[in-house]
Amino acid sequence: MNHEGVESLKIRIIGAGIGGLTTALSLAQSGFQHIQVFEMAADLGFVGAGIQLAPNIARVLDRLGVWKEIAEEAVACRDTSI
Ligand SMILES: Cc1cc2nc3c(=O)[nH]c(=O)nc-3n(C[C@H](O)[C@H](O)[C@H](O)COP(=O)(O)OP(=O)(O)OC[C@H]3O[C@@H](n4cnc5c(N)ncnc54)[C@H](O)[C@@H]3O)c2cc1C
Repeated sequence: MNHEGVESLKIRIIGAGIGGLTTALSLAQSGFQHIQVFEMAADLGFVGAGIQLAPNIARVLDRLGVWKEIAEEAVACRDTSI
């Protein structure tokens, strides 16, 4: 299949959750130039909750080049119980 010129495709992503933003960043890093992210929430602020990041997502975020900034804010979780 010929992918020539595919980077000029117009891409629209619905939702600026971690899925939408990761998709947008991955596509931008792959050379796609026209990416729009639509989000219905008026504000993407802090909600005062923690979020647990498993090793698999940490590896993906590291490959995308954004892990260092996250790690600076993170606390290493040494024990869990459910
Ligand atoms: C209470 C709670 C705690 C959690 N804790 C963790 C945790 O510690 N660690 C972890 O890994 N996961 C956790 N999760 C799960 C994690 O939040 C989800 O797996 C993740 O957010 C899914 O990402 P997503 O991008 O698919 O969807 P979402 O984060 O739901 O993002 C979807 C976005 O799309 C927007 N949207 C929807 N419809 C439209 C539309 N028509 N037009 C425009 N925008 C639209 C929404 O406003 C939203 O911002 C938790 C979930 C909950 C509910």
